[in-house]
Amino acid sequence: KVFTEEEIRKDVEEKNVRFLRLAFTDINGTLKNLEVPVSQLDDVLGNQTRFDGSSIDGFVRLEESDMVLYPDLSTWSVLPWTTVEEGTIGRLICSVHNVDGTPFDGDPRNNLKKVVSEMKDMGFSDFEIGFEAEFFLFKEGENGEATTTVSDHSSYFDMASEDEGAKCRREIVETLEKLGFRVEAAHHEVGDGQQEIDFRFDNALATADKLQTFKMVVKTIARKYHLYASFMAKPVEGLAGNGMHTNMSLFKDGKNAFYDKDGQYHLSTTALTFLNGILEHARAITCVANPTVNSYKRLIPGFEAPVYISWASRNRSPMVRIPNANEVGTRLEMRSADPTANPYLLLSACLKAGLTGIKEGKLPMAPVTSNLFEMNDDERKDLGIKPLPSTLHNAIKAFKEDDVIKSAFSEHIVDSFLEMKETEWALYTQSVSEWEVKRYFNY
Ligand code: GLN
Ligand code: MG
Ligand code: MG
Ligand code: MG
Repeated sequence: KVFTEEEIRKDVEEKNVRFLRLAFTDINGTLKNLEVPVSQLDDVLGNQTRFDGSSIDGFVRLEESDMVLYPDLSTWSVLPWTTVEEGTIGRLICSVHNVDGTPFDGDPRNNLKKVVSEMKDMGFSDFEIGFEAEFFLFKEGENGEATTTVSDHSSYFDMASEDEGAKCRREIVETLEKLGFRVEAAHHEVGDGQQEIDFRFDNALATADKLQTFKMVVKTIARKYHLYASFMAKPVEGLAGNGMHTNMSLFKDGKNAFYDKDGQYHLSTTALTFLNGILEHARAITCVANPTVNSYKRLIPGFEAPVYISWASRNRSPMVRIPNANEVGTRLEMRSADPTANPYLLLSACLKAGLTGIKEGKLPMAPVTSNLFEMNDDERKDLGIKPLPSTLHNAIKAFKEDDVIKSAFSEHIVDSFLEMKETEWALYTQSVSEWEVKRYFNY
């Protein structure tokens, strides 16, 4: 829904809004907030809110660091955990602009808009996205600090569990609904203390925005229950990791362009060639979909996370799965991404790869019908199945070598993203872990 200025002003009045939280996302995918008193409402709505971009990761520019926030009025909401009696906080998601009014090309949100407009030039109306973000709830320590003690020892879809985790999850769902989310599923995941909440698909920009709101809500409500929510890819060795399955489809003339009633698994040629684009650029996409050192500790056998670049319909071991669905729901489910990915950058990369696939018109490799983890290297090789990068280092290499994926981003983003990831890898290679000390100390 697009709110008019009048509607926002009315809400501000009726809900006793005291502060306006202006949110945008840095290159790491972290939500940044600038909070201003409601007396600044005219400036906010008039795209006059300035801030210093030099302290934001990936935003630094040599010329000058002043930037301006342009709120997207369709994202207006009043934070449900603030009260009318005490005064509420209104929230708007913004795009970052230069002082001359042009969109700042280091802003991940602006970047996604650009790739979406390339898609529109190809005749599609929407890139529809559904995320399935998983997270862990950890107990708070005595002094309110985060611990790595999981909140419960329940299992997948455990309905009997009436622990804090389940109560907390319910309050998260209710809060999301107050914010206009259509929550479609919420359940305990495989890992102890692990949860998943799925909300209805929407166009790419709206869904990326919603993911940022979702994470904020999860973390905020968890604190009420003395729990810490973590979206880290693999917070505990030996337990399942946190995935963020990314369900994708393209719409054209009000219809799902991925659906063809006569196609294999009801997939159209558009879907199959899009899929081929994703598979061909999978290694470079991984750098964006799995952007931390820790992400690669999730992409291992045994925890329902993918390791190989392939696709299938039922089978859950490949990177892309085709879920059984009706016409609107026909989609590709990319299972490799994790919730540490910047959603705007992730969707920019996926959309670019898919559109390139459509333009090239090549069909993907055959779907796999057997368990990839039970095959040996030679058997996989014969089927043309390559592995996903095994480390952030290998993913960075793949990203650098892939001109298509790099072209999904502004030069500014490519440069600052690579600089950051390379620094992160360098720091990691220098760190000495507990595992190393345990293993090598007595040599
Ligand atoms: N947690 C698994 C992962 O790492 C996914 C489990 C599931 O949703 N089936 O991707
Ligand atoms: Mg799921
Ligand atoms: Mg899941
Ligand atoms: Mg799934």
